[in-house]
Amino acid sequence: MTSPLLRRIVIVGGGTAGWMAAAALSSLLGPGYEIRLVESDEIGTVGVGEATVPYITEFNEALGIDENEFLRFTQGTFKLGIEFVDWARLGDRYMHAFGQVAQDIGALPFHHYWLRLRAQGDTRPLGAYSLNTLAAQQCKFMRSRQDLPNSPLGAIAHAFHFDAGLYARFLRRHAEQRGVQRVEGKVVEVQQREDGGLAAVRLERGEVVAGDLFIDCSGLRGLLIEQTLKAGYDDWRHWLPCDRAVAVPCAAVQPLLPYTRATARPAGWQWRIPLQHRIGNGHVFSSRFMSEDEATALLLAHLDGEALAAPRTIPFVPGQRQRFWVKNCVALGLAAGFFEPIESTNIHLIQTALMRIVSLFPRAGMDEADIAEYNAQTRFEYERIRDFVILHYHATERSDSPFWNHCRTMEIPDSLQRKLALFRSNGRLFRDGDELFAEQSWLQVLIGQRVAPRGYHPMADAMPAPQLQAMANGIEQLLRRCVELMPPHEEFIRAQCAAP
Ligand code: FAD
Repeated sequence: MTSPLLRRIVIVGGGTAGWMAAAALSSLLGPGYEIRLVESDEIGTVGVGEATVPYITEFNEALGIDENEFLRFTQGTFKLGIEFVDWARLGDRYMHAFGQVAQDIGALPFHHYWLRLRAQGDTRPLGAYSLNTLAAQQCKFMRSRQDLPNSPLGAIAHAFHFDAGLYARFLRRHAEQRGVQRVEGKVVEVQQREDGGLAAVRLERGEVVAGDLFIDCSGLRGLLIEQTLKAGYDDWRHWLPCDRAVAVPCAAVQPLLPYTRATARPAGWQWRIPLQHRIGNGHVFSSRFMSEDEATALLLAHLDGEALAAPRTIPFVPGQRQRFWVKNCVALGLAAGFFEPIESTNIHLIQTALMRIVSLFPRAGMDEADIAEYNAQTRFEYERIRDFVILHYHATERSDSPFWNHCRTMEIPDSLQRKLALFRSNGRLFRDGDELFAEQSWLQVLIGQRVAPRGYHPMADAMPAPQLQAMANGIEQLLRRCVELMPPHEEFIRAQCAAP
């Protein structure tokens, strides 16, 4: 006898993960599914998570979301990258920008030529060859011009900053228009079937919500995946020492920066996320090295505008679920794991998890091969990002606090050790599979963190020195001319997507 088709989807949690899931599944799965989302106003959402990476534009496209409408609704701004301040040494400043750092020259990545120029005494930073970096430094922005495919202006990569609460409301509207039913209430019991799979959740007021597939978006508590199904958790505190964040919004100031800023502090770092109506700020720190009071005082002393609310502390354990999909339950968002916010990756991980769920969507019963594939792909994705995040802490010369001494001297995963060794010898970079951060990201962060290769690819020596100089000058001048054509970020927003 064949099992009945899987039709009833229950999403537990209405934060960013829950509403992204509701919006995506109702848009992508087609008709015939009953999707219900349970959330509790009393518990509320984590309320942070306001910076993204460029792949979110693909999510918007897949769901038919109009970018200007989305930015107007969420008080959003554009993000060209992240500026890192004081990370390798106090006084350092570099940009991890989205998009290309110059094009490859023939078969060779541009950075080998840059390393040769540097060896010959040229002091131009890597960012001089990145359109996004140059635009960010001048607070300029425009979208990629599809009609200029051969110009750098045809390849501007952007992401967004937005208000997390408004983003959930925006997605809720999208999902409800596509038939998703919202159920208000606190889950007080999770009912299991005989085989251990989930059958239903019972709410405080007695209502029972039954389903065939459950998406756990209940946040850090992992109500279904951990508290009920005991998926297990890999604790990464030995590699990622930060385990708390204190967050506070402050008044907006001019100019409106088109990038996130991450400033290193004595026991962690501080984020600054510019929105149209306010700036989101937070101090991510290690409770082993700093008290909450100290962390809060440091944050409040470094705001650009007046604080708009009381600071709020969010404790977390950096790590991942050992299994993200167990029986008929898949965990998304904070329920699936959390590194820490340094490279703004968690919303992206919700997006890729959703695309993976759609591609492996069960027909009737659960298929163990599908579940194993889902878990393997997700684990790979998490662990590659984890290594990139650890790099930011470990590759430092700072010795001015016990925290930085710990980070500089701590053990790191073998997979990161291998990447560092390849880069340190001859500047070699390889993307593992389709890991999120490609060569251009590793390059900018490695160089920004002062990891200096001893050599470069021998092919870079083949170009005569005057030709190399002329090429470098030509690229830099072209990029600077392109930036001149771009409007100020603020002006672009005013013209296209200012909130009413
Ligand atoms: P939550 O927002 O916590 O939502 C959980 C939901 O579950 C809520 O609706 C709650 O009411 C519901 N719920 C829980 N228990 C019950 C119950 N018993 N009954 C009914 N409902 C229940 N990501 C990025 O991509 N970029 C960033 O810049 C970024 N910054 C971050 C900074 C910090 C300090 C933290 C902690 C995270 C950050 N993240 C960031 C991650 C991002 O915030 C989350 O991935 C995202 O908000 C998703 O959260 P969530 O929906 O999983 O959880």
